[in-house]
Amino acid sequence: MIGMALLALQATTAQPARVAALKQEAMTDVASRAQFTQQMVDQIFSYGELGFQETETSRYLVALLRKNGFTVREGVAGIPTAWVATWGSGKPVISLGSDIDDIPQASQKPGVACHAPLIEGAPGHGEGHNSGQAVNITAALAVKKIMEREHLPGTLQIWPGVAEELVGTKAYFVRDGLFAGVDVVLFSHVDDNLATSWGDIAGNGLVSVQYTFQGRSAHAAGAPWRGRSALDAVELMDIGWNYRREHLRLQQRSHYVIVDGGDQPNVVPPTASVWYYLRELDYPHIMELYALADTIARAAAAMTSTTLLPPRILGSAWPGHFNRVIADAMYENIKQVGLPQWTDADQRLARALQKELGVADSGLAVKLDTLRPALKPEERRGGGSDDIGDVSWNVPTVTLRFPSNIPGLPGHNWANAISMATPIAHKGATAGAKVMATTVLDLLLRPELVSQAWDYFRNVQTKDIKYQPLIRPQDRPAIELNRDIMARYRPEMRRMYYDPSKYPTYLEQLGIAYPTVRAADGSCAGGATP
Ligand SMILES: [Zn+2]
Repeated sequence: MIGMALLALQATTAQPARVAALKQEAMTDVASRAQFTQQMVDQIFSYGELGFQETETSRYLVALLRKNGFTVREGVAGIPTAWVATWGSGKPVISLGSDIDDIPQASQKPGVACHAPLIEGAPGHGEGHNSGQAVNITAALAVKKIMEREHLPGTLQIWPGVAEELVGTKAYFVRDGLFAGVDVVLFSHVDDNLATSWGDIAGNGLVSVQYTFQGRSAHAAGAPWRGRSALDAVELMDIGWNYRREHLRLQQRSHYVIVDGGDQPNVVPPTASVWYYLRELDYPHIMELYALADTIARAAAAMTSTTLLPPRILGSAWPGHFNRVIADAMYENIKQVGLPQWTDADQRLARALQKELGVADSGLAVKLDTLRPALKPEERRGGGSDDIGDVSWNVPTVTLRFPSNIPGLPGHNWANAISMATPIAHKGATAGAKVMATTVLDLLLRPELVSQAWDYFRNVQTKDIKYQPLIRPQDRPAIELNRDIMARYRPEMRRMYYDPSKYPTYLEQLGIAYPTVRAADGSCAGGATP
């Protein structure tokens, strides 16, 4: 009996020396896969696909994962470009996610420190979502090799954040049961440092809602009194919202675009639509904001004698909360890995871009971020959102931020695409993959970490706050979004897809000298002059 108990103890408590040796091996293995990582980063950069239209990106990643022994289920949650790949068996189940979509009108030549689109008006990776899958897959392959040799039990799951810029899918992944049975989710996201955090995020959650009004068309000059303008309703709703904005909490963020404002001026617009992002710090405040928008929409319809159609939810996100136990373990690995060695060329690109944008030319990060302690409620002032929040309220989750971008950029902009197919992104992704691989090994080899993570999740994080989806039972993923824009640009973009069989890097395929910075005469690679 004593012998049995001892055996069981040995099975669950790994010796620190063995854990350290396997983690060292994983870091070396990830480093040896640097070219593989670089090719993934460059390939997805060149596809440059908007949310819900990531067909080339997903086709490429699914094939690559199948080739490496993963089983892949496609069309997850009724979303054509969503998939889930699994390998291994038994517990723990470690799930690795990262976003794959890009930004409208952010097309940009990589390695060029001024606005120089590859294709004018086309989408581009102006958020850097081309790098996270490379981090996760490189890490997973390094860990898989060790698991096979050491006969370690456990399952690796890999999935893409589809349409993250529309906060369009992760709540549906949760609803579809993608995370049932998952023990820990490790998410990766591009940044300008190697970092993680725990507790509530600084930013907001949100609902993304489209309001459509129906009026009556008429000759706008011949018989305007017979028309009822749906565009009037949209404009009055926006005016109503903008007046009310003064009396909302400072933590809210709300913004809109008019997606249908009519066809031509001489036809009274019979339909019009406006699309709002309504952001607040927590579920009750998001629902309050959403109810207010509904009221203002109904009032605008009443004022204009138009009809408000049932509002459509196009996306949603819970404000994220990250797990303390996993963040602590991950941060130890971050300290082991450290920041990449930047070359003079990397720093020259960074400083030239910062100068171009008129921000402090601090260059690339050379000092690791500290592990930020949890924010106090009064420190949360609102900001962006990510639907990883929905996942984080269902499974212990952390986000690893890795240094593939340049500090001081505006976000959702061509400038954020510049580093994303250069050595900066490549080295940042390799550093991220090292942290990801070593953290997965921690979770596989130290089962007490997983139980402590769940203890924090159950008894601290969700003690008083319970997840309830912002999407309603009748809502479906808005998979038609971006279809027309992508169809317009794809033929031209297709000619620029990266071909790693011909070129070692995408920079070489494009014939871009690295770095290209503004010359003394003000010229910049055919880009805009200041
Ligand atoms: Zn993002």
